[in-house]
Amino acid sequence: MEILRALPSSVCLRVTRRCNVACSFCQAPPPGRTELSLPDIIALSRFFAARGVRSLKLSGGEPTVRSDLAEIIDAIGQAGLKPVVITNGFDVPDEAVTAAQLCGGEFKFSIHRPSAENDQILHRTSFTQIMANIDKVIKRKVGMSINTVVTPSNADGMREMVDFACEVGAAKISFIPVVSRGRARRSGAFNFLPDELEAVYKGVAELSELFAGIIKVHCIDIRNRDYWVVENDGSLWIERATEGEDLKICDREHLLPNV
Ligand code: SF4
Repeated sequence: MEILRALPSSVCLRVTRRCNVACSFCQAPPPGRTELSLPDIIALSRFFAARGVRSLKLSGGEPTVRSDLAEIIDAIGQAGLKPVVITNGFDVPDEAVTAAQLCGGEFKFSIHRPSAENDQILHRTSFTQIMANIDKVIKRKVGMSINTVVTPSNADGMREMVDFACEVGAAKISFIPVVSRGRARRSGAFNFLPDELEAVYKGVAELSELFAGIIKVHCIDIRNRDYWVVENDGSLWIERATEGEDLKICDREHLLPNV
């Protein structure tokens, strides 16, 4: 398939749609319990490694709800790829941290407020536990960075989030302007006006300059770039700003013919 020659260096695996919290802007809420199995993930890791992909991001849903997360991380590392676990940080098992430590993996904590106010976003009392899990990852010298979803209501808090990321020892913070997908599509509260969005881009650029040499500050906006995702049913997609613009590349049968 010609388009598979254009794979990016990093692909996202949606290893589950289950989650242990309930963000109002969730871009990928649970539509079912279908999940990629460990043999699926081993086969996918080999498939992507053979085609020049260098890292697999584990997302969901929440990847830490998988009881075989450590084995998944290990399998990706064994294929020669870097596993990056995108997590809300509420429950980060020791075995998963060990597996990441052994293969040069990374944890990306999705944190949206630099205090217990974050609990209101996740709809679960969790901030103390998240901080303890960040500490655990840092102490084990495993790569750690932060993702922050930016909405019209927290766009003025980006500076505080960068300060927080520096304090906890993150190597990088990525700001992700919310797009109208999943649960966010159902609420007008997550619609950016064009000038608000421009202000986010400008703010991130200024913070990136201000914190140069201290921490990397990025903007990840799927309005401007393709996001390659293996869905929890094994199909491969390019995700864009709205579900209607998504492009299905192939079904599970093409990626996993013998699994
Ligand atoms: S932590 Fe992630 S997957 Fe879970 S509800 Fe929030 S945005 Fe959705």
